[in-house]
Amino acid sequence: MPVSVHNLLLLVTEAIIYFSVMVALLHFRRRLGLGVFLTALGVMHFLETYLAAVFYVELPFGTASPGSSVLFAGKLMLILMLYIREDAATVRQPIYGLFIGNLVMVAMAFILQYQVVAGVSSGAVPDAGFLKEMGWLMLWGTTLLYVDSLGIILLYERLGRRFPRSSVLRFVIAGAIMLTFDQVGFFSVLHVFLGVPVAVFWDGWAAKIFALILYSVLYAGDLYLRHAKPAFGTSRPLADIFGDLTFRERYENLLAKSGRDSLTGAFDRNRLEEDSPALINHCLHSGAPVSLVMLDVDHFKLVNDRFGHIEGDRVLRVMAEQLQAALRAEDSLYRFGGEEFVVVLPRVGHEEAMALAERLRQTVESRLSTPDGKAVTISCGVATGPADGQAFHDLMLRADERLYFAKGNGRNRVCGREMVP
Ligand code: GH3
Ligand code: MG
Ligand code: MG
Repeated sequence: MPVSVHNLLLLVTEAIIYFSVMVALLHFRRRLGLGVFLTALGVMHFLETYLAAVFYVELPFGTASPGSSVLFAGKLMLILMLYIREDAATVRQPIYGLFIGNLVMVAMAFILQYQVVAGVSSGAVPDAGFLKEMGWLMLWGTTLLYVDSLGIILLYERLGRRFPRSSVLRFVIAGAIMLTFDQVGFFSVLHVFLGVPVAVFWDGWAAKIFALILYSVLYAGDLYLRHAKPAFGTSRPLADIFGDLTFRERYENLLAKSGRDSLTGAFDRNRLEEDSPALINHCLHSGAPVSLVMLDVDHFKLVNDRFGHIEGDRVLRVMAEQLQAALRAEDSLYRFGGEEFVVVLPRVGHEEAMALAERLRQTVESRLSTPDGKAVTISCGVATGPADGQAFHDLMLRADERLYFAKGNGRNRVCGREMVP
């Protein structure tokens, strides 16, 4: 077997062992404590710099060090994984820790070189100069790491807008860009201060990208294993399994989902679609009915046309207040679209829902008017499960049909099951 292939196989073995153990520590961080992962990461930093300084091997794509390929690329990708699983405040800890530790190491090496060394039996001679040189290299490496880490996180987030469902693709692209940036930064110093030839740049770059590809495969495997179990039972598409979200993205998702409509304070359409299927299921499984009222303001366009959008907005706001006040605590009001609202009534049968919708209609008609004194009116369509359907979308469809029927039959009325031919 050629030496380069022999070395490559060993390099792959090193990468798999290093990454798998670190990912396992990251995975069990709640049980073990995050300190275990972070300390192991810190310890490997010493080996990384030592190897990058003196240990180079021949590979099929040139001569490179396992320190800057396996260990450095691995560390950067693990920092990104830590960010994805936790948040920016947590990622700061190893970066600052490595930086301060390296600073102290340079200071220690500086003092150590002045100590008078006693002879040791093995005959080994300490090399304080080398230690100091390594210290500076570590310091420069960690400064770069700081920039690399910020960069990889920002890139990963940015790429999320373009590829929200592919965490692995974002991992590869962000990794490739930042490892290239790092190679340029680190190599420049080696080239200028230590006279390292340019060919080493390309060899080192190829080795880093090779390690990245290997880690991306392992990362995809880890994602698959973490999400595979719940995914089997559901119809979740495969792309979803690999769509790992960062803390910020999860937070934004949550905000969107918890969303209330800012004009009326009613829940928004996302919430309707998020909450209702489970609520309907729950009611129907416990043998209780569940009703939906879909309501729409009559000739609302005229309100806007005659009195302007500000007045139109006021009408919507006041109407939502009045509807809310007329509902029970367990009923929910959602703004479905412009001037369309949906009310979800758990454990309410059709007769009762019709009566409630009628009360809502009367409330709006009697209490809400435009500046010319004309009453604002609404039309309602009512549907009730299980008779009109067991699924959220079926009930919405029925309620919508009945709302249109109410519109077609003169508006300012409530239409239920019996009235539609
Ligand atoms: P219909 O009785 O058939 O429902 O007549 P309509 O005029 O209400 O018809 P349509 O549903 O087509 O019109 C809705 C209008 O609501 C159109 C849109 O300009 C307006 N609108 C939607 N959202 C808002 C909003 O947030 N504020 C204001 N002021 N107007 C809105
Ligand atoms: Mg309308
Ligand atoms: Mg409408």
